[in-house]
Amino acid sequence: MPNITYINGKYLNYEDSKIHVNDRGYHFGDAVYEVIVFNKNIFYDFDGHIQRLFKSLKSLEIKFSLSSSSLKIIINNLIRLNKAIIGSVYIQVSRGVAERNHSFHGLNIEPILTIILTKKSNIQNDLNGVKAITLNDNRWSRPDIKTTQLLPNVLAKTLANKNNAYESIFIDNEGYVTEGSSSNIWVLNKENQLITRNLDGKILSGITRNSISLFAKKNNITVVEKKFTQIELYNAKEVFLTSASSFIMPIVKIDDQNINQGLVGNISLELRKLYFDNFKHS
Ligand code: PMP
Repeated sequence: MPNITYINGKYLNYEDSKIHVNDRGYHFGDAVYEVIVFNKNIFYDFDGHIQRLFKSLKSLEIKFSLSSSSLKIIINNLIRLNKAIIGSVYIQVSRGVAERNHSFHGLNIEPILTIILTKKSNIQNDLNGVKAITLNDNRWSRPDIKTTQLLPNVLAKTLANKNNAYESIFIDNEGYVTEGSSSNIWVLNKENQLITRNLDGKILSGITRNSISLFAKKNNITVVEKKFTQIELYNAKEVFLTSASSFIMPIVKIDDQNINQGLVGNISLELRKLYFDNFKHS
């Protein structure tokens, strides 16, 4: 548990870290967020996450004045104050505090920046692979914006956990995979093509996804960005998910279907290693 958090210019003790009852993030999910993992002096994909934060803010017309270098200073201060070595940084920016009213037209309020650390004892290393379940994608039509409005994702992840699974995979109305409740989904098909859904507005442009795509291509693995079906998911040679918190996590069972006979695949392992190696040297 971290001791110190950051709220709009102040480093606060955990007990004093309070948000106003009229925060629009609280009322409407009118807020955006990012999660960045750090390990000793390494941040994984720091710039990508910060750039996406600014993109999300722009999509929602939230006027935010801090620069990415100021954000980095604050995050480094927090890590130092909390004496954290390994963990994740949660950054949230809400539109601000205002009397409850759906419209923000004409509102002149200051956004609320909250930064919270979660300490980890080590970087997750469960390489037996995990189980996933599938369910209908019932989210709003803009899952490409990273907002805190996550109730369908919360329900989906809870359902996964109730079924002893690690992740829920959303399927659209036409039977195509969109993404996980908090991850992007990849399949390796029988022709050794690595497939992940294209950025058609129905998935989040995952920062880990972007890095993995680059590393795979550099290592002569064919990457194809296109829609793939639930059937292709079940029949894949390998399936894995990517996200900032789980990096590259092999999926070895989906619903009642074993993937790769329930074993972690070589390409998943290779990509996971490439990901870590890349940041080791940066
Ligand atoms: N899709 C969803 C819905 C997510 O919540 C996440 C995790 N933020 C991802 C994909 C993966 O994105 P990233 O690699 O940037 O963490």
